[in-house]
Amino acid sequence: MRRTPAELDKMRKAGRVVAEILERTRAAIKPGVTTLDLDLVSREVIERRGARSNFLNYHGFPATICTSPNDMIVHGIPGSYVLQEGDIISIDCGAIIEGYHGDAAYTAPVGTVSDAATRLMEVTRQSLWSSIDQLHEGNRLHEVGRAVQLVAEKAGFSVVRNYVGHGIGTAMHEQPSVPNYWPGTPGPKLKVGNVFAVEPMVNIGSPDTVELADGWSVVTRDGSLSAHFEHTIAVTEEGPEVFTRADV
Ligand code: MG
Ligand code: MG
Repeated sequence: MRRTPAELDKMRKAGRVVAEILERTRAAIKPGVTTLDLDLVSREVIERRGARSNFLNYHGFPATICTSPNDMIVHGIPGSYVLQEGDIISIDCGAIIEGYHGDAAYTAPVGTVSDAATRLMEVTRQSLWSSIDQLHEGNRLHEVGRAVQLVAEKAGFSVVRNYVGHGIGTAMHEQPSVPNYWPGTPGPKLKVGNVFAVEPMVNIGSPDTVELADGWSVVTRDGSLSAHFEHTIAVTEEGPEVFTRADV
């Protein structure tokens, strides 16, 4: 799908709402705060900015963000979980403006965390930015996954295979899938107007995943820590443009 300049402008607006959710939730993370508190922060931003949530009621999901602590990889449901000193917490969030979607995620420390956790977060963030550098017209889509894999595995970590990035536009999840690893084929050529949500999930241990009984939460099979970073990015004539860029 190639978006027109007018469509990209709407996605830029949605991205700015998402960037504010990233920043506001990041500022609220501290020991003693519940994951439901963080969802309320996101709801306030969405309402104040006249946006709609793309997470709330998505296949019945009950909140505007996903909150996934420690060994939880993605899709955690905000609730009574109280953030503890030493936790890491992954926040995945999104918003819709004028029918166009933004989607982004990050993992943050709660207070002081272990060196291993700090390194995992930094490597995962670097793997995302390294993959964003691949989003140039004429390059092949699956260079994105190759870039993620290179950074993550060089650091001794593993890349989750069972959950991947995606195209994004008038729906949150559009074709094509954007794997965070080299899938064995180069994939389609990138064109100006393509927009993707790239979202590496990186584990300290094995890449294997388990879905919990709530039907949403996904954790690492071996209990090792996991981090998740995501941005919504357009391929433009000037190179990759990160719509959800924020200072987190
Ligand atoms: Mg997301
Ligand atoms: Mg996504």
